[in-house]
Amino acid sequence: MLSWFDRPSEKRPALSLLYFDGVDHSGHKHGPFAPETHAASREVDTAIARLMAGLAERHVAANILIVSDHGMTELSPQRVIPLSSLATPHSMEIVTSGPYAGINPVPGHERELARSLSAQRDHVTCWSKDRIPERLHYGTNPRVPAWLCLAENGWTLTREPHEHVIAGTHGYDMAAPDMTATFIASGPAFLSHKTLPTFDNVDVYPLLMMLLGLLPENNDGSLVPLQGGLRDTYRAIQ
Ligand SMILES: [Zn+2]
Repeated sequence: MLSWFDRPSEKRPALSLLYFDGVDHSGHKHGPFAPETHAASREVDTAIARLMAGLAERHVAANILIVSDHGMTELSPQRVIPLSSLATPHSMEIVTSGPYAGINPVPGHERELARSLSAQRDHVTCWSKDRIPERLHYGTNPRVPAWLCLAENGWTLTREPHEHVIAGTHGYDMAAPDMTATFIASGPAFLSHKTLPTFDNVDVYPLLMMLLGLLPENNDGSLVPLQGGLRDTYRAIQ
């Protein structure tokens, strides 16, 4: 990426994106608190330091956003809910399993499946797709299966009763603190040492558009929660 800033100024990018997969990979494989995952975080930290130093060396005053698309929670073979314990296997076609499950009824078994999945249970909640709580922003797309079951943070919904469970994952209710993502911003647009209340990741898009001086497409995000972190001159041009 630094080499892009060695080009003549008219050939430099206005927006550059870097993706580091190490922390996610290690979080899944070894768990969020494993030494391997700390090592992966250190590696990313070192790479970002290298980028910052390289930009400073080239006198590039860039706005840097460090984001992640999700958190990570620790799983355990002691916290497993086999989907066969929620409904009889002949009544359901399991589309996805894990922190949440997407389930379609086997034709002719719609009512049986609805009866089973509507029952109250510990550590999991199921909704028919038209009853999914509004705040989850899920269920209107035709590709979403007829039923959604969401496990409690740290619990796993499995296809088989004795399935191997990985060390960590994401995909739980975003209200769970473990699911919170990273947001660190620095550069000419941002105030220093400012901590903002938690906001939605979709708000990053209008922020990027503002920083690029572009009109955003219709979207679900808002710049309002980010106002408090912006310098006055940037607040004025929203
Ligand atoms: Zn992941």
